[in-house]
Formats: sequence, structure tokens, C-alpha cells
Amino acid sequence: MALEIRRIPALTDNYIWLIHDAASGETVVVDPSEAEPALAAAEARGWTIGQVWNTHWHPDHTGGNAGIVAATGAIVTGPEAERARIATLQRGVGEGDTVQIGDHVAQVLETPGHTAGHVVFHFADDRLLFSGDTLFAMGCGRLFEGTAAQMFANMRRFAGMPDETVVYGAHEYTLSNGRFALTVEPDNTALIERMAEVERLRDAGEATLPTTIALERATSPFLRAESIKEFAERRAGKDAFR
Ligand code: ZN
Ligand code: FE
Repeated sequence: MALEIRRIPALTDNYIWLIHDAASGETVVVDPSEAEPALAAAEARGWTIGQVWNTHWHPDHTGGNAGIVAATGAIVTGPEAERARIATLQRGVGEGDTVQIGDHVAQVLETPGHTAGHVVFHFADDRLLFSGDTLFAMGCGRLFEGTAAQMFANMRRFAGMPDETVVYGAHEYTLSNGRFALTVEPDNTALIERMAEVERLRDAGEATLPTTIALERATSPFLRAESIKEFAERRAGKDAFR
């Protein structure tokens, strides 16, 4: 049975993702910036959160951990490399580890760059990727604790995933990302068409995530960068872009 996934808007532009497996009745919350909206969304469906998965230590991804644990006794899984910065971390994971909801298994991939220990959760069989602050729609995370070479390597891994892989990033940055993307590839027709749709959605107050690897491969200047140098130039360009 397919996993059910719910998007919960939080803070200014964060998305908390709720994963539910009807077969086992288990529920996981990914990157809860806040506890209340996640608990309320679960409760509204009669679900109980049993696990928290964190992609990295930033407070807008872990701020809800303690409240969710207090309310539900959930187990917190996140990057072992960031244990010192995630006070609520119980199970530390890294490259090669797996996490599980019911019978559905996700591979943990280390994707350093935004933070040094950032991980993503990849359900290869289910074709789902919870990408935290590493991959956004037409964007990637800022390089706070890592290098362009590391982030470029992450992009190459994502680019190698199957087209239909659905990507659940943690922020609604799509409009700004797309505007920057158009400065890089003003003649990319897939990008032009996508931005028309993104503008329509945002004007209507709707979300633009999740996305897919196919769409990102066609439109993201970061997934489309062909060298570390080109990637680094684009990342620096986006940092300065207003
Ligand atoms: Zn972050
Ligand atoms: Fe974030």
C-alpha cells in the first residue's frame, strides 16, 4: 500500500511533512519546525506520530522535536554527525543506514553542504525523497557548513534518481528560485512554462511542492550545472540575487 503524505505549512515558509502508512498505522513527521501544527494535523486524521526524522540541526527543522516527544513519546532520528546540536536526538544515522515506516524502507544519504551532517531520506522503492534543505524546487540549500564541491556531488546523486521520484523539500522558496533560474537560462522553455504555473499557484496562495526529479532535471540551474565551477558560480549568484 502506498504511503500517504501530508504537507503542513509552518513558520514563514517551512513545510513539515507527515508520512502515514495505513498498513501498519505508523506515522512519521519529517523536520518539524514547530510541534503544534504537526500534532494537530496528525490528530485531525486520527494518526499518532511515532517517529520524528530530522534532516539537519537547524531550529526550523528540529524546533518541534521536544513538543512532539512530550506529547507522543516519538523516537527522534537524525544525523549522528549533528548529535551535539540536536538535544532531542535518540537514533543517530548516516550514509548506508536505513529508516523505516511499516514495511517501507528509506535509505539515509549524507548530503553535506548546507550543514556538515545534513542527511536526506530516500525511499528508493517508493520513489520518494525527503530532501530537507539540500534540494528545493529549482533550488538548493545555501552553503553554510560545506563546499560547492560537496553540494555539486549531492546534485549529481539526485540527478541520477528515477524521473518519477517525488521530492519533498522543506521550504517554499520556489518563486525566488525560479526567478533566479530564469536569469541563468532565459530561453529554457520548460523553465518558462514552469514559472507561469508557479506564479499562478503562488498568486492563489497554493504550495509548489512536492516536485519531481524529472521537473528539477529540466528546470533547476543547480541540478543542471555541469561542473563544480558552474555550480559554484550559480550558487554564488543566487546568494546575491534579490
Ligand atoms: Zn537549514
Ligand atoms: Fe531550513
